[in-house]
Order: sequence, then structure tokens, then C-alpha cells
Amino acid sequence: MGATVINGKEFAASVREKVAEHVTRLKEDNNITPGLAVVLVGEDPASQVYVRSKGKQTVEVGMNSYEHKLEADTSEEDLLALIAQLNNDPAVHGILVQLPLPDHLDSDLVINAIDPAKDVDGFHISNVGLLGTGQKSMVPCTPLGCLMMLRDHHGSLSGLNAVVVGRSNIVGKPMAQLLLGDSCTVTIAHSRTKDLPSVVRQADIVVAAVGRPEMVIGDWIKPGATVIDVGINRIEAADGKNRLVGDCHYESCAEVAGAITPVPGGVGPMTIACLLANTLTACCRANGLPEPDGLTA
Ligand code: NDP
Repeated sequence: MGATVINGKEFAASVREKVAEHVTRLKEDNNITPGLAVVLVGEDPASQVYVRSKGKQTVEVGMNSYEHKLEADTSEEDLLALIAQLNNDPAVHGILVQLPLPDHLDSDLVINAIDPAKDVDGFHISNVGLLGTGQKSMVPCTPLGCLMMLRDHHGSLSGLNAVVVGRSNIVGKPMAQLLLGDSCTVTIAHSRTKDLPSVVRQADIVVAAVGRPEMVIGDWIKPGATVIDVGINRIEAADGKNRLVGDCHYESCAEVAGAITPVPGGVGPMTIACLLANTLTACCRANGLPEPDGLTA
């Protein structure tokens, strides 16, 4: 196996450390503590785990964490009223509404009710537009994490061929915008792409965000390319136990790639780290203070 393993767990720890240092300085110099409000509607078990983990890590870096757990049958009106309250609360610098929402709630309506300056998930239509036009925005956490790892590994990304497999609003599209912002030549592939293997073979950087276990195989990878595997898929292994795999077949890709992120321990840990980074950025912007270096796009 020739590839350098990009260790997302270690990288995420270093991002959290930078955030924590900056938070300490904000408290000492400006008497400001960044605050993140997380809203969970219903009792989806996976969402509960994510929310707990977000709350824990928020407190660990010295920020205030505000958790709002609402009943599954909460009305849209009540949810929007809570968001309005959080929008107006100066102690709250970031607001995250955990998705998916129960079916009776309109996710787009709810997300677009968040003050864009506090939209630390970067899903508000204003932030999508700002990112698309190369302006300062709040950037979705998972693609931001991928970008940080790529910049760290490559230094400059300028002129590299990047293929993003997947065109979702939360990963594929913002990832492509970020790579374009760093002057990559970007191709977005999806389920209708013809001859996907030959498209991927052109890439110096492959970002797989598909949701199909181990779909991208080593034979598709250009020798020396960097493979960023966003996928998180739970499969049943031969021994009957569940295990997590990515959208890339790790062993075969690692034979050919120059660098690769593992699953677990690659992109996954970066997502919450970037949520904390975004909350810090939002807090600095809200207070007219300089933004932290290296934690934004
Ligand atoms: P979506 O299901 O929203 O999007 C999947 C994309 O993959 C679609 O654009 C789809 O194309 C494309 N696709 C599906 N099948 C194929 C195929 N056979 N060939 C080429 N393209 C295909 O997924 P997400 O973007 O939300 O998530 C992708 C993966 O990333 C999942 O495994 C998810 O669990 C993981 N994830 C991980 C995160 C992390 O923190 N590490 C955060 C978010 C997601 P089309 O549009 O044509 O249907």
C-alpha cells in the first residue's frame, strides 16, 4: 500500500485545538464567549448521537452550548418562533437545526429562517449564493473539512484536476465550489455520468460523496492522486458484524493513490471540528473582530 494516509482524527484534533486557543483569547481580551445553539426535533437515534457529540465538543473548546430538544410533533410555527428567538439572542453566534426534520416540517423554510450570519451549517440560500459567487459566506462543514485536508496535503490546489462524485447540496455542490475557488479544474459526476471510471481516472483529486459502499475502486484512480472519501456506510461483514466503510474501496485505492482518507477516521471527524470553526468565525464576524487564520475557506 503506497498511499499516505490523511489522518482526519488527528487533523480534527488540531483544528479543535486552534479553535480552543482562539476562544481563550476572545474570553481574555474581549470578554466574549462564542455560543452554539443546536435544535433537535424528534428522537431519531442517529441525530441524538450527533447532537450529543456536538454539544460535548462545543463545551470542550470553551464555547457555550445551548441544546433545544423539541417533541417530534412540534409545529412549524413553534419551531420558527424558537429560531427567531435564537436569531435575536446575542449570546448565540451559531444555530444548527439537526436534519432530517420530521416530514411535516419544511426543511428549506426552516433553514432559510435562520439568520445567515448564524447559519453555521452553511445551508441558508444566502450562504449558498455567496459561496457560488466567491463571496465571504458560512461554508458547509463537511466540504470545508475536506478542503482543509487538501490544502494541508497539497499546499496549493491551483490547476489540479478535481472530480467530485456526487452532487448533493450538502456535500457535492459546495465541495465543487470550494475547489473551483482554489482554482482547480472541477468536474462534478453523478448517477447519470457516462463512463464514470474514465472520468475519475482524469483526477488529481477525487472526492467521493455518493453513499454507495466501496463503489470507487483502485482501477479508477490515477496513480498518485489524492482520494478524499466522504462516504459513511454501514455494511455487514463476513463475520456477521457491522462495520463502517466509505464510498471508496480503501485497500485497492490505497495501492494506487498518493494520499487517501480512511473511513472511519478521515473526513468524518472533520465535520464537527469545522462546525466549531464556523461558530468561532461567526462570533468574530458578529463582533467585528479578525477571523481566525486557516479555519475558513
Ligand atoms: P446524497 O444521497 O444526497 O447524494 C449522493 C450523490 O451521489 C447524488 O448526487 C447521486 O447522483 C450520486 N450517486 C449515487 N449513485 C451514484 C452512482 N452509482 N454513480 C455516480 N454517482 C452516484 O448523499 P450525500 O451527499 O448527503 O452523502 C454522500 C455520502 O457522504 C453518504 O455516504 C453520507 O453518509 C456521507 N456523508 C458524510 C458526512 C461526514 O461527516 N463525513 C457528512 C455528509 C454525508 P444523482 O444526483 O444523480 O442522484
